[in-house]
Amino acid sequence: MRIIRTITELRRWRQALSATARVVFVPTMGALHAGHGHLVQLARQAAGPDGCVLVSIFVNPKQFGPAEDFASYPRPFAEDARLLRQWRTDILFAPTAREMYPQDEAPADSPRDPAGYQDPLGDVLEGKIRPGHFHGVCVVVARLLAMVQPGMLILGQKDYQQQLILRRMIREMNFPVDVLTAPTIREPDGLAMSSRNRRLTPRERPAAAVVYRALCRAKDEILHGRREVKHLIEEMAGPIAAAGLEVQYALPCHADTLAEFAGVVNDRCVLLVAARLGATRLIDNVVVPQE
Ligand code: AMP
Repeated sequence: MRIIRTITELRRWRQALSATARVVFVPTMGALHAGHGHLVQLARQAAGPDGCVLVSIFVNPKQFGPAEDFASYPRPFAEDARLLRQWRTDILFAPTAREMYPQDEAPADSPRDPAGYQDPLGDVLEGKIRPGHFHGVCVVVARLLAMVQPGMLILGQKDYQQQLILRRMIREMNFPVDVLTAPTIREPDGLAMSSRNRRLTPRERPAAAVVYRALCRAKDEILHGRREVKHLIEEMAGPIAAAGLEVQYALPCHADTLAEFAGVVNDRCVLLVAARLGATRLIDNVVVPQE
């Protein structure tokens, strides 16, 4: 595996690659876990023996709010590089913030980029709680796509709203890239794997599994014909709150538009939850298949 730190070096590598080589790209913020591992495995399959798997690690200051955990976000770089080698990554691209945002003195203090893609879906759910977050995500992914020029981009369903917004940005900005959304990888008790889970204390950790349990219960309710929005919200928020978490949202939304349903769920649905457990924010979702 080759580690590339600068855009100049990345360009040189990209130009030297034959026009037919398939580049499959997995963007991450590092602190890698088996969820990322699955994305890289899918990338390896999609790239084939002659293609190239490129993983980026960049803790993007523009997608963190001023009160969020940018400074304390885990950065175990040596361990991440070891895992990526094990997962048969070809290129690890790990730029600095100055490399990505040369115009900004302090990128974390200037999160808004007037030139970036703005999506109205970026203002609901996660975007309402984390203003500017998805704008920051779109700015960095657009720049990375322009640099890496992949044939395929692999994203996780774990960040449902993010993959939806990025797919819309890619369509609107005409990036010539296929997008694959990979399923969420979970711990044995159902907790969605996340870099932030390492912040959960041993006391908090068992309670975190309630989020997925609640999502599965609400999904079963829909599949059994109980489709009232109010009932579904109670089915999710009730047990999560009872386990001591602070529910930020627990909603059935339209799977393609994230629109809220009026009264009953009557179309393709994604159940979305965000909850705080001590110092850790957990997000998770489940898509309900249409009958
Ligand atoms: P992050 O490093 O958290 O920015 O995540 C990088 C990519 O990995 C994103 O596309 C995430 O949606 C995806 N991802 C994060 N957690 C999981 C998981 N548990 N299962 C599958 N994909 C994941």
